[in-house]
Amino acid sequence: MLDLRVVDGRIAEIGPGLTGAEEIIDLNGKLATPGLIESHIHLDKACILARCAPEPETGPTNHAARVTEAKEKFTVEDVYERACRTLEKCISNGTTRMRTHVEIDPPAGLICLEGVMQAAKEYAWAIDVEICAFPQEGLTQADETDAFLLEALDKGATCVGAAPGYDPDHNGQIDRVFALARERDIDVDMHLDFGNTPEDMDLHYVCELTEKFGYGGRVNVGHVTKMSVAAPDDVAEISKRVAETGVALTVLPATDLFLMGRDQDRGIRRGVLEAHRLIPEGVTCTLSSNNILNPFTPFGDGSLMRMANMYANIAQASKPAEIRNCFDMTSFQSARMMRLNDYGIEVGNPADIVVFDAASPEAAVAESIAPEVGYKAGRQTFTRPAAQIHRPA
Ligand SMILES: [Zn+2]
Repeated sequence: MLDLRVVDGRIAEIGPGLTGAEEIIDLNGKLATPGLIESHIHLDKACILARCAPEPETGPTNHAARVTEAKEKFTVEDVYERACRTLEKCISNGTTRMRTHVEIDPPAGLICLEGVMQAAKEYAWAIDVEICAFPQEGLTQADETDAFLLEALDKGATCVGAAPGYDPDHNGQIDRVFALARERDIDVDMHLDFGNTPEDMDLHYVCELTEKFGYGGRVNVGHVTKMSVAAPDDVAEISKRVAETGVALTVLPATDLFLMGRDQDRGIRRGVLEAHRLIPEGVTCTLSSNNILNPFTPFGDGSLMRMANMYANIAQASKPAEIRNCFDMTSFQSARMMRLNDYGIEVGNPADIVVFDAASPEAAVAESIAPEVGYKAGRQTFTRPAAQIHRPA
């Protein structure tokens, strides 16, 4: 068991039997880990389910159109309020860092960005929020969207995203996003290859540009459900390619499970890439919540341990090393993907720490254990009291 000395919000010393502290916090031997990282979430369209049209009785889920309809009525105050509510869910589940995607399409324009920026500022004492601006509804066919994207990057977004699947010209959008990233010297994070069949994957082109522009380690792609239905040999070849070029992958199990396989009436395919199997191959892989309570995913509580548990279950990760990878996909792997070089319980890093009543990170995943308390820069940010059993007298 080790002690941590925290000075001015940073870890100053780690070792057994440290003495001479002004204040002592006894964690009773519980597990302390670095704060968790939500590497891919949408704060701007979280918690809108009640105002959206219901899912159609038959046919496609029509989720994107139902969100677009709701987006027309978004205001800055409304986005701010929902983003705050969602941030509180995440914070109280042990998340201390986050990358949120923010939509900049007309008619909302910069409303989502402004609401999310206000919320991020409001909760900066508990969580670092990085904003990735992206066009949800196509870019190459909408001049106005390009202008909003530029403005969003001027105003506070520090990462550029994409959703080429919603663009009539996939490669055109990918080209433009890489051009913006290079112009601004920022990282790229794309929604990519969301589909039920492995054909026509955009990932090949993304790898090509990543290599061409020397952008290895600065490009992430989310979903990649097409890879989950590719033949094992193809998966091996693609993972070798992404490892070599330095493209990271994010799985979003809640959304993928909810939306994939809608063409089937039995034995529904999961559509979740078994990314933890690619970590030993040298691929950086993360897993994250993505959507919370909206037509893309009508579930969500901001709990990364619940998400990791669900992922481990459906990806059939059972060996301790595999389950450990699932934990790392919400922490260390995410830090690598986001290039956070001050992450982890090490001297010099911010004291962003969460405490689990769990024997190990593997147990936290396997038992879906929520952290009991958390600290951001050494200051306690939440408490989650343990359940109590009341035996009869
Ligand atoms: Zn997303």
